[in-house]
Amino acid sequence: MGIMGGTFDPVHLGHLIAAEQARLEVGLDEVWFLPSNLPPHKQHSPLVQAEQRCHMVELAIENHPAFKLEPMELEREGKSYTVDTAKELFQRFPEHQFHFIIGADMVNDLPHWFKVEEIVKYMSFIGLERAGHTMNLQALPDWLQPYIRTAPMPFIEISSTDIRERLQSGKSIRYLVPDAVYDYIEENGWYGT
Ligand code: ATP
Ligand code: MG
Repeated sequence: MGIMGGTFDPVHLGHLIAAEQARLEVGLDEVWFLPSNLPPHKQHSPLVQAEQRCHMVELAIENHPAFKLEPMELEREGKSYTVDTAKELFQRFPEHQFHFIIGADMVNDLPHWFKVEEIVKYMSFIGLERAGHTMNLQALPDWLQPYIRTAPMPFIEISSTDIRERLQSGKSIRYLVPDAVYDYIEENGWYGT
């Protein structure tokens, strides 16, 4: 199983291409999209709550039989640490092997993840290139490197930050997100549309 964690604020084609790329390159059976709780100070608009971020993910993945939504982090109160999520997945689904899919920005950040030395007891990582970030595996501690495998990923210059900025300044985000997500954001006037 692949785990695609993120805030998905909003979900975009970069996330979907990354998940599909990891699935095909590593031979994953499924990819579970796992939206994370945003700490209150990081919420951009009181309207775009966890529930709506989840719904956007549902709309984005509904046509792919191997993509699933896993809302466990939102069912917990407050901020979730990946280590708790990894442990819960490991305990709830002993029949599966989990691989956390992350972009280059997150790969470089791994040494700063809370209890990363414990996370790797429960799952390994699939690192993907990301436009604007140079994945630097050599800079990671030696003991961590064996837990990360890489898979090819085309540079897709899309980020949720850029999408939010575009919407705030009245620019189109058509084709950066799936049509269903585009319509949903438009209908609700989120992110300043
Ligand atoms: P924000 O700009 O709000 O941080 P984001 O576009 O980075 O949003 P996240 O929800 O933070 O999206 O990312 C979830 C995961 O997807 C991270 O591991 C991130 O590296 C990866 N990711 C997001 N966009 C891309 C992309 N275009 N190419 C490769 N990986 C990506
Ligand atoms: Mg990000």
